[in-house]
Amino acid sequence: MTKWYTSPSGSGLFSSPRQKPHGESPGQKVVGQDRTLIEKMSSLVKSLSPKNSKRSKFMLVDELPHLPTVALDLDATLVHTLVDPVEIAVAQQSDLRTIRLPGNMGLVVERPGIEQLFSCLTGYNVMVFSAGGPFYVKTVIETLAEENLFLRGKLCKILSGSDLTLYSELSELTIAPCAKSLNTEGVCYVKDLRKARGDGDSRMVLIVDDNPYAFQVQPHMKDDDFKRRYDFTLNAVPVPLFIATDSEAVSDTVLALVGRLLQTIVGAEDTLAALKDHPDLSELKGMCHHVLCPPEEAPRCVSPEFRQTSEFHCTEFSI
Ligand SMILES: [Mg+2]
Repeated sequence: MTKWYTSPSGSGLFSSPRQKPHGESPGQKVVGQDRTLIEKMSSLVKSLSPKNSKRSKFMLVDELPHLPTVALDLDATLVHTLVDPVEIAVAQQSDLRTIRLPGNMGLVVERPGIEQLFSCLTGYNVMVFSAGGPFYVKTVIETLAEENLFLRGKLCKILSGSDLTLYSELSELTIAPCAKSLNTEGVCYVKDLRKARGDGDSRMVLIVDDNPYAFQVQPHMKDDDFKRRYDFTLNAVPVPLFIATDSEAVSDTVLALVGRLLQTIVGAEDTLAALKDHPDLSELKGMCHHVLCPPEEAPRCVSPEFRQTSEFHCTEFSI
């Protein structure tokens, strides 16, 4: 399981009173306390300075077990990462918000409404569950957080390609993740939502994802018990693909709709029951044009649509 950052708790900056130095007079005591306060304030200022600001932006927050969890997919759901120079130039000339990744990793294009979505996530644990490689996912989230205040202090967990459950037509693949790539024909993946929470309770998890096979096993898979164990369709808030180069991308309202949906069911006693039959869920399903792979087309695991996304391409140097 990938986890890069630990909770900020335990830093001890203001947690433990300093001991009074030996031989300190009452008059010096006041001075000593002032000095201690100044030292603490100095440490705080240093920790917030640009030199150290990266660290503070990427800290994960503690999971709150009594709250439900929203697992957000990254590529084609929250962002679209472009690597083609022509496409990058087009995106930069559009009204879409873009952020350059380090080196030659490309350009991240934010889906419109991403800030609105995060503003609607109060009352949930929020985590990212991407199929992208760990390094790619880490870099994108770090880059997004550098530019977007709304992302900081929100995420409690980040899972990526090495946390996926891989399977073939016949069975789960228990090989070392690095030995197989998602680009290998016949290797499929599903996201085990039990991993999204510390208590493993998938009934408390909702997943927002553009890929329908992220939360259910492909129909050509022959192990029915495996299919049943990894069927999270009742947890799913499906969204249509976000393709930054699409002419309609700038007017995409999907994330705003997802935010509205999540906000209206927050606090429900049974999150999955509240999601089921919700009119906004029906609207989102109506916007998706996913074509589930019919059994006769097995073992075609990755749809042509999915092959266009950066998520697909970015997995190859990762798992
Ligand atoms: Mg995706």
